[in-house]
Amino acid sequence: MMPYKISVTPLWMRTANMPAASSQPFPSSVDVLVVGAGYTGLAAARETAAAGRSTWVLDAGELGAGCSSRNGGQVAYSIKPSFDSLKAKFGADRAFRVCREGLDAVAYLRSMAANEIDCDWRDNGCFFGAHTPRHFKAMVRDAENQPRGLEQRINVVQKSLQHEEIDSDFYHGGCVFVDDASVDPTRLLIALMRRAQECGAQVVDRCRVTAIKSARNGFEVLTSRGVVQARQVLLATNGYSGPLSAWHRRRVIPIGSYQIATEPLGAERVRALIPFARNIVDSRRVVVYFRPSTDGERIIFGGRAALSERDPLACVSRLQQMMSRIFPQLKSVHVTHAWVGWVGYTFDTLPHLGQHEGIHYCMGYCGQGVVLAPYLGKRIGQQMLGLKEGLTAFDGLEFPSRPYYREKPWFLAPSVFAYRMLDFIGL
Ligand SMILES: Cc1cc2nc3c(=O)[nH]c(=O)nc-3n(C[C@H](O)[C@H](O)[C@H](O)COP(=O)(O)OP(=O)(O)OC[C@H]3O[C@@H](n4cnc5c(N)ncnc54)[C@H](O)[C@@H]3O)c2cc1C
Repeated sequence: MMPYKISVTPLWMRTANMPAASSQPFPSSVDVLVVGAGYTGLAAARETAAAGRSTWVLDAGELGAGCSSRNGGQVAYSIKPSFDSLKAKFGADRAFRVCREGLDAVAYLRSMAANEIDCDWRDNGCFFGAHTPRHFKAMVRDAENQPRGLEQRINVVQKSLQHEEIDSDFYHGGCVFVDDASVDPTRLLIALMRRAQECGAQVVDRCRVTAIKSARNGFEVLTSRGVVQARQVLLATNGYSGPLSAWHRRRVIPIGSYQIATEPLGAERVRALIPFARNIVDSRRVVVYFRPSTDGERIIFGGRAALSERDPLACVSRLQQMMSRIFPQLKSVHVTHAWVGWVGYTFDTLPHLGQHEGIHYCMGYCGQGVVLAPYLGKRIGQQMLGLKEGLTAFDGLEFPSRPYYREKPWFLAPSVFAYRMLDFIGL
């Protein structure tokens, strides 16, 4: 128990000016009904609303209840499998297109941030710290052997020069991903919501969708505010997918991701810790990630501190310990905010979009949806309109499940334990 009070509202939401939810009467029929008002649902809704389709976005919680208001705001190339592993599975052409689209998604958000929206975009790059000398060697090898046409700008940082990047001896060198960036995640959510609303989409809070049934001209959708007939439905529920669709629930694994914000430390002290205000991630399997807050006064530190703990306060001391192993200088600083969100993992660590039994879906960013969700959300919106621009390299990929996985991810605890052991022994 902490001797002082910690807020469970994400730090980003402290000053956020969330747009008002729709004040229109609840409709009896719509063209497009989107379930989930995060980046995915809002990006898709903007496309369908702009094309003149009456579009309603329903969210079970308050606006900003999902991951999109509460993530780390780290912008990076976000396709988890390597080009070589994708090539072994799908062939060189599909592997190249999937990876290329990962880079296109970053370019899309960058261009939107430059030209259309305010999300506090910063070209701060990312320091990827090597947890062991062996990880460092592998990083250097990967940086020097990037597949042609998929190159990213990467600077290798030897351990002897590491203090130029981070005031810590924890890592064994690392790499700077020069083109990575950061955003204020809540501001990105607000910007996407405004764009969708400006095009005519109605966004409704505290309205849970409880069932979707096939009907003559589409679907009959049961919600906590009544029944709606919808010609098309999009599931944009990611790590919050729950019991609404058993098929999706068997394919998306919800995993808690936890963050803390330190008390204000002063901009100078934060700059001394992370001189270029970069995002920091490391090469462990059970990953941690951190960065300065947007005002430069605090450190925001996150990681998989637990698997399914719903109370973020229960994870504070674990995250503090993780942080002080990297920055012993922060051992006694206070934490003022702690929060949790549910990311959606998939068994092949790829995002998936398409249709199942006529219901559209787009989800499974494996904890890396800041770039992927706005981009693939737009694409699924275009697919719902039948536009060929909506086609992606992910279309038609099998969306795998596992035997006996229906509700509880029984395999998670043993695998995370094994990953922690491998991290511990440095493999
Ligand atoms: C702590 C944390 C840190 C992260 N850091 C990063 C990062 O630095 N970089 C990165 O790329 N990604 C990060 N992520 C992941 C990223 O935030 C997500 O991948 C992304 O926000 C997913 O967006 P989404 O719109 O698909 O889902 P969400 O934003 O999670 O929205 C899903 C919505 O669906 C609603 N919903 C579910 N079921 C129903 C229903 N039946 N009826 C109505 N509504 C329903 C939920 O209420 C929720 O609001 C992080 C996530 C967390 C939690």
